[in-house]
Amino acid sequence: METIGGDDVILCSFCGRTAHEVASMVAGPDPSEVYICDGCIHHASGIVQSEAPVQPVAKRHSSGLRHHRMTPPEIKSALDEHVIGQEYAKRALAVAVYNHYKRIEAEDFLHEYDEVELEKSNILLIGPTGTGKTLLARTLARILDVPFSIADATALTEAGYVGEDVESILSRILQAADYNVERAEHGIIYIDEIDKLARKSDNASITRDVSGEGVQQALLKMLEGTVAGVPPKGGRKHPEQSLISFDTKNVLFVCGGAFDGLGELVSHRLSSSPIGFMADEGALRLDKRDPAIFQHVEPDDLLKYGLIPELIGRLPVVAALDGLSDDEMRRILIEPKSALTKQYRKLFAMDGVDLLFDDDALDAVVAKARGLGTGARGLRSVLEDAMLNIMFETTSLRRMAVCHITPDVIENHAEPVYEERKASA
Ligand code: ADP
Repeated sequence: METIGGDDVILCSFCGRTAHEVASMVAGPDPSEVYICDGCIHHASGIVQSEAPVQPVAKRHSSGLRHHRMTPPEIKSALDEHVIGQEYAKRALAVAVYNHYKRIEAEDFLHEYDEVELEKSNILLIGPTGTGKTLLARTLARILDVPFSIADATALTEAGYVGEDVESILSRILQAADYNVERAEHGIIYIDEIDKLARKSDNASITRDVSGEGVQQALLKMLEGTVAGVPPKGGRKHPEQSLISFDTKNVLFVCGGAFDGLGELVSHRLSSSPIGFMADEGALRLDKRDPAIFQHVEPDDLLKYGLIPELIGRLPVVAALDGLSDDEMRRILIEPKSALTKQYRKLFAMDGVDLLFDDDALDAVVAKARGLGTGARGLRSVLEDAMLNIMFETTSLRRMAVCHITPDVIENHAEPVYEERKASA
């Protein structure tokens, strides 16, 4: 029994639903302490029958339902703490997530709108590699405190072929949720490299395309919402194996891809649209290699690229990520909560060394990372490379020393400049 707004309310001790939201509620030995609703009883018996490793049915309030209460601006500002730039994508994600959890709640509450179906707002993130697509999805899951898993679309094949079944995606989020099925059913799944599933030619019927269109077909149902049988320990299904039944209707799918060559299709469409229909002249001046061209992607372009129309229909929210500017790359080094330089400073501080990065050393990291062509991902490799020898010696450095990272350290593996720490006034 809990007191909400001055009233005593009976809540299911497992999922947190109130007695009004469920068909029936069973009280424990001490009726003022513990209750379980019919939905959780159903789940519990499913877990027992599936022989999955024994886990609690669901933690209280664990379904993610409470999270819809975060407003889009709140979600956006929480994303801002971890992700630099990408303003449009953050806004689009914040709204999509807000609507996603509202849609889940609508099933329980808005009976007068019963005939109005809210469609699922799965999300497609388009942008160059290393610009924060995975980071955005992962951060969202962390903010919302829901399970998160990543799947690589290129590893998937149609059922019956060598490779991973599409259901393996669900095994992974089950694991991430410690086999708490209800929690997993409200999680976020990021499917990377969705662009690699594009149909190679317009005439796919001549040769079977097991790795591309077939997988797109298999993903369709899952994205839309289906009850799938998932092998509890991952791997392939076996006939004699008992399966966990997993409903994907409330899972939020975020798909991402670099979509190389899509810019060309967009720029071609924009330049060939008849005068008078050109809504955005600025777009016309964009180079086809400029990531900003992705802001103008339309379903038709994705279709031409090789995604099947049904799949495009299941990804109603399309958000383009920008290529990162030098300034943004620099900010990524210092601003996010767990920015790389902060991580190194912490590691060195644990050895009593005060690590300082000179401003122009940061510029050097950015310049070198840019050369790698892997977006912000290159920042880590450049820093790791430069810091390796220094970290090898941190323990032998004089305690209380200050270690300056200069551009020469980054560019030429030179020795850093060490100083006595100035005594604080
Ligand atoms: P992708 O777009 O290829 O999915 P990721 O999200 O995996 O790229 O980014 C790789 C790494 O680069 C992340 O772990 C993060 O450290 C960094 N990164 C990329 N983009 C951003 C960004 N916009 N803000 C902060 N860090 C970023």
